[in-house]
Amino acid sequence: MIPNYSKLPGTATTIFTVMSQLAAEHNAINLSQGFPDYECDPKLIEFVARAMKDGHNQYAPMTGIPALRELVAAKVSHLYDAKYDPATEVTITAGGTQAIFTALSAYISAGDEVIIFEPAYDSYAPTIKMLGGLVKPYEMAPPDYDIDWEMVKKLFTANTKMIILNSPHNPTGTILREKDIQALIKLTKDSDIIILSDEVYEHLVYDGETHRSVALYPELRERAFIVASFGKLLHTTGWKVGYCLAPDYLMKEFRKVHQFNVFSVNTPMQVGIANYLEDASTYSGLSGYFEEKRDLFRSLMAETKFKLLPCNGSYFQCVTYEDISDEADITIARRLIAEYGVASIPVSAFYIRNTDHHVLRFCFAKKQDTLKKAVERLMKI
Ligand code: PMP
Repeated sequence: MIPNYSKLPGTATTIFTVMSQLAAEHNAINLSQGFPDYECDPKLIEFVARAMKDGHNQYAPMTGIPALRELVAAKVSHLYDAKYDPATEVTITAGGTQAIFTALSAYISAGDEVIIFEPAYDSYAPTIKMLGGLVKPYEMAPPDYDIDWEMVKKLFTANTKMIILNSPHNPTGTILREKDIQALIKLTKDSDIIILSDEVYEHLVYDGETHRSVALYPELRERAFIVASFGKLLHTTGWKVGYCLAPDYLMKEFRKVHQFNVFSVNTPMQVGIANYLEDASTYSGLSGYFEEKRDLFRSLMAETKFKLLPCNGSYFQCVTYEDISDEADITIARRLIAEYGVASIPVSAFYIRNTDHHVLRFCFAKKQDTLKKAVERLMKI
């Protein structure tokens, strides 16, 4: 008999892989998975190549190379006026997902409850479940995906161990406002609930808004893991390098897991990134850069039958399609690939219960030409 010991029996291949595969089969324009279809700065490639040629090819320190940790600490100090000790409070990770996995692994045991805001990035729930934890979803809904904190309060129990935030938010493109942060501070005051703040899109905030990092608020920072990704910062999602920030008492536990999970992150990338980021102008214009893409995509999509939802951050634009059909979002997403050659992601995939508000997510981190061609096809609907 074949043993069936699956720890995640209800979990299938991620929707991103499914949609990207379908897109490839149909030769469709892929606006589903969140990655740029253009090259990163050639200077960055040179820095990484030089690091390899200079012999930075053996294990990095478990926590990350000092130069990169120091650079991250300086960046966070400059942006959010928060002091993180690069020796004990910054760890370089193999991307944001690994940082999330490691932070959860370090703290979540059987029976612990974790509050998440759905639609949610798809790694959170399976990771919590795999650790024996319980997912407590708060379901946000279009058009605004606003959070009613009185309802969130109802999810808190004696077993609540962690709460996961994500701003700017994937998939909805919303951002946390001051009222949200203040509500969270009030809710978690005098508790020992840990905050896991997924801020991988921290530099992608539009319309003159600012990113409210948890690092800005001492009451939250003192109990928080903050996760970031160089993939989003440098247009290099395939390199899978990111970092995690936390006060030393949390980071100590994080590193206990990290050392047996990846041990250390690849060295030449770290050296190359550290040298490249010495010049802060390499990323300071990122919001303007993506805002232009967002504006282009929105203006093009406004000519189609899809209805645009607000987008204040991230590189995702969500749309509804009530003037087109009342099909399930997964059905229309598949049909858009097969019949029109454009791939998107059905947002129901980001809810544990697959709640279907008839919303599709498009990624606009693409060349102008790609966006134009995709919308030309969508115009035919
Ligand atoms: N969190 C969110 C919300 C994301 O969208 C992503 C990437 N799609 C990640 C984390 C993971 O980042 P990385 O690619 O660095 O693992």
